[in-house]
Amino acid sequence: MQQLVLASNNAKKLKELADLLAPLGIQVIPQGELGVSEAEEPHCTFIENALAKARHAAAATGLAALADDSGLCVAALGGAPGVLSARYAGEPKSDARNNDKLLAALAGQPDRRAHFVSLLVLVRHAADPQPIIAEGEWHGEILTAPRGAGGFGYDPLFLDPASGQTAAELPAAVKNARSHRGQAMQTLLARLTRELG
Ligand code: IMP
Repeated sequence: MQQLVLASNNAKKLKELADLLAPLGIQVIPQGELGVSEAEEPHCTFIENALAKARHAAAATGLAALADDSGLCVAALGGAPGVLSARYAGEPKSDARNNDKLLAALAGQPDRRAHFVSLLVLVRHAADPQPIIAEGEWHGEILTAPRGAGGFGYDPLFLDPASGQTAAELPAAVKNARSHRGQAMQTLLARLTRELG
């Protein structure tokens, strides 16, 4: 595996994954560069959506494909917003409106437990019967008001208990090392290193 199509056109994700996989001699190409359209994400689980995206990109290009799906799961809300995290408050997607909706949904709720989830799925080809799956979780609590100016999405409401800071207050390097995405990426790297070694 020397080339991998990334089932995303997000420049930040591309850079992170390209940097991670370059030492293994793997070149990461965004799907848009190969003329691949965005896949549907109709499922109610992260793993199903990530798999659908990876398969779609592999089928369209004939290359191995990597996809990710992530979101916030709140215990008192049965795991919502979950796969709908980006569009929790509807279209057009807005972090501010998503955060307002989350605060309203948890008004008066003493159980503030929540975690971020990141799923990375790599298929060697579209019909790969055993994809490489790497999952990361970051557990914390939802505050009653936002704090901090960094990050994105639900970061200002997400308290990291280990540091006492929100994800929006943590320096980016600390967040990246501790986060669901950082953990999933390290797991993926370890699995790929084993497979290629
Ligand atoms: P995607 O997988 O990049 O599409 O992310 C889905 C949504 O989950 C984002 O739009 C955010 O609302 C939320 N999310 C995922 N990861 C994070 C994070 O690290 N901080 C804050 N929000 C996140």
